[in-house]
Amino acid sequence: MPFLTEPEPARGVAIDCLPGITRVVARNPSVMTYQGTNTYLIESADGLSVLDPGPDDQQHVADIMQAAGTRRIERIIVSHAHSDHFGAAAALKAASGAPLYGYKISGDERFKADIKLADGEAVAGLKGVFTPGHAADHLSFEYHVPGTGKILFSADHVMSWSSSIVNPPGGDMRAYYASLELLLDRDDVLYLPGHGPALPDPRSMVAEMLAHRKAREATIMAELVNQPWKIPPLAEKLYAKTNLFLKMAAERNVLAHLLKLQAEGIATVDAEEWRLVS
Ligand SMILES: [Zn+2]
Repeated sequence: MPFLTEPEPARGVAIDCLPGITRVVARNPSVMTYQGTNTYLIESADGLSVLDPGPDDQQHVADIMQAAGTRRIERIIVSHAHSDHFGAAAALKAASGAPLYGYKISGDERFKADIKLADGEAVAGLKGVFTPGHAADHLSFEYHVPGTGKILFSADHVMSWSSSIVNPPGGDMRAYYASLELLLDRDDVLYLPGHGPALPDPRSMVAEMLAHRKAREATIMAELVNQPWKIPPLAEKLYAKTNLFLKMAAERNVLAHLLKLQAEGIATVDAEEWRLVS
């Protein structure tokens, strides 16, 4: 897939994205988080919103407060309850006094929103679009930028630098497919993701991601036609990752595909061995 890259962004400063929107990139780069989590600062008629406070890191909280400057942070919105997105929520709330917003059912008991959002609900011009799959409580946010048009803060559902990990039980491949299909029916001109640079022409990437997953699923089914498989050797054969984290991610993705096939009555598991339903 035509993934985008970017040089290491400046740390500790607000980087311009679009009129009224900047990002502060957290100091948590890794093979799973790319250059780090993007914390967005969004200035609207309703004041300053922070989308995704980022990982539990006092320096990052200080960086966000510095980027806000004399502006008061009115609200802190969390796209989904993964620690690289909500980790700093409590500390940023304490530093700013702003309430926390998130999906009505949190995917992690360590994160509790003060104000719970439902699918389609808007706050400060940010309209939540429920997009489960990467995480059970994942919200993307639709937003209108004057002069640019309708954009989507796509968080970790669709990113420019990599496909998303779908890690059960929070990650759900059937939901992920459905959430990709949902985006195909939309006409956003640009995505601002949770990691990595902005994604122009987002629908073609979404279509490729969906096609890629369907091809992967077909490959898994083709392997199961030949013999039953346990997940580690099947992931090894299909992904050939050497990095330990990527190897683990590959196994979780394979499990997610198999659980989807199981839910659809196509595959079954016995003693960790997966086979097709005959
Ligand atoms: Zn993330």
